[in-house]
Amino acid sequence: SGTSDMKKYWVNEVKDKVGETVELFGWVNVRRDHGKIIFIDLRDRSGIVQLVFTPKDGELYKLAESLRPEFVVSVKGEVVVRPKGMENEDIETGKVEVKVADMKILAESETPPFPLDTPGHEIDEELRLKFRYLDLRRERLKKNLILRHKVNKFIRDYLHARGFIEIETPILTKSTPEGARDYVVPSRIQQGKFYALPQSPQQYKQLLMVAGVERYFQLPRCFRDEDTRGDRQPEFTQLDLEMSFTDKEEILNLTESLYTEMVKAVAPEKKITKIPFPRLTYKEVTEKYGTDKPDLREDKNDPNELAFLFVVDFPMFEKKDDGSIGATHHPFTSPKDEKGNLITRDSIEWMKKEPLKVLAEQYDFVLNGYEIAGGSIRIHDPEVLSAVFEVLGHDKKDIEKKFGHMLTAFKYGVPPHGGIAPGIDRFVSILANEPNIREVIAFPKTGDARDPMMDSPSEIDKGQLEELGLQIKKKK
Ligand code: ASP
Repeated sequence: SGTSDMKKYWVNEVKDKVGETVELFGWVNVRRDHGKIIFIDLRDRSGIVQLVFTPKDGELYKLAESLRPEFVVSVKGEVVVRPKGMENEDIETGKVEVKVADMKILAESETPPFPLDTPGHEIDEELRLKFRYLDLRRERLKKNLILRHKVNKFIRDYLHARGFIEIETPILTKSTPEGARDYVVPSRIQQGKFYALPQSPQQYKQLLMVAGVERYFQLPRCFRDEDTRGDRQPEFTQLDLEMSFTDKEEILNLTESLYTEMVKAVAPEKKITKIPFPRLTYKEVTEKYGTDKPDLREDKNDPNELAFLFVVDFPMFEKKDDGSIGATHHPFTSPKDEKGNLITRDSIEWMKKEPLKVLAEQYDFVLNGYEIAGGSIRIHDPEVLSAVFEVLGHDKKDIEKKFGHMLTAFKYGVPPHGGIAPGIDRFVSILANEPNIREVIAFPKTGDARDPMMDSPSEIDKGQLEELGLQIKKKK
């Protein structure tokens, strides 16, 4: 920092700075008074170092006496070797300590509502989420955030090196069918109209292929208003990617090498059960395991085993509970016949007649019993796309209204294309051996979709409602 030649360090860096006078910033982790000597464990993001104060420090000693846990301080002092027998093997800086010559209290702190020096599993989650900024100070969650950062960075570097460009797509958009309910946002300027938050950037990424981008990715947030069964979040993060002039083989190989390399780089303690990742058809996998996302770990008690597999050749359509026909993935997926040939204009009639026999050039990516990605080779012939919408029970007008923009775009030289979208949250939670994805999201929602810290969702005032032309019905 500015004024002197003194160097500002991360706390952990002082372990090899013996003899240097350093400047450190951080939080009081604990204070220990040993007879007349005061020891402070100073904590920053990198770790902990011991500070020492003795009565002959005068005013400074008095200041040290006033320190409480979580006070924020800056200190200057000399790094010295700890006396023999006083080393602490539990921390990286355990062989040294800092003899403080100057200290400033930058902020005081009330006593936190729960301990921060434990993994925190024992604490009521509602309380943890209400004080998430404190909860995130604990070692376990800090590690999770850093691991997630490493995953994101690895993905970016890996794909940049392979000619992908990172492009942001809108959050205020129109419904894209991924099979869930949309979150909607009322428009003030176009009163009575609504944006939908994207369930995924599916249509945008396909339109980027029409735009000639050829290799796209981003790490978008996706929004699905589902009943919060199990371990779900209203918003989650994907690695969304799409390529032109590609096929299933290329996309699966890319995914496989990305994940193999990534695990080596960010979680080297993990062992992958089988490389290359097994590729099983939907039929094989459901017959053999009774599920389309089997857990293929050899030892399910081993926290460091990762069993990846791909499931291919899904049925294109399925009968829904009400008897109507739905898409098993999304309607942009290429249908194929029983021999594996992609449906073309010549085979549209067969597809319409025998929808439940139609397969899809779709693949799922499964890890330890969780589906962590889905993707497909897309339809790029607008006539085949229209036919799929028809099978799904849309009439001509409906198709035009909902998907007219795609059909129009596909009239202007659309390259064959396909992609995949692995979820980030689940993958990181498995790498971190966390029981749920909330532990690897900085600010997650509760099981019933609330944020107790921000108190959202919350009511809006009358004026806002009026501007939007909205009225709230009285609750029954
Ligand atoms: N958009 C799909 C999803 O979110 C993934 C894909 O087909 O690329 O599941």
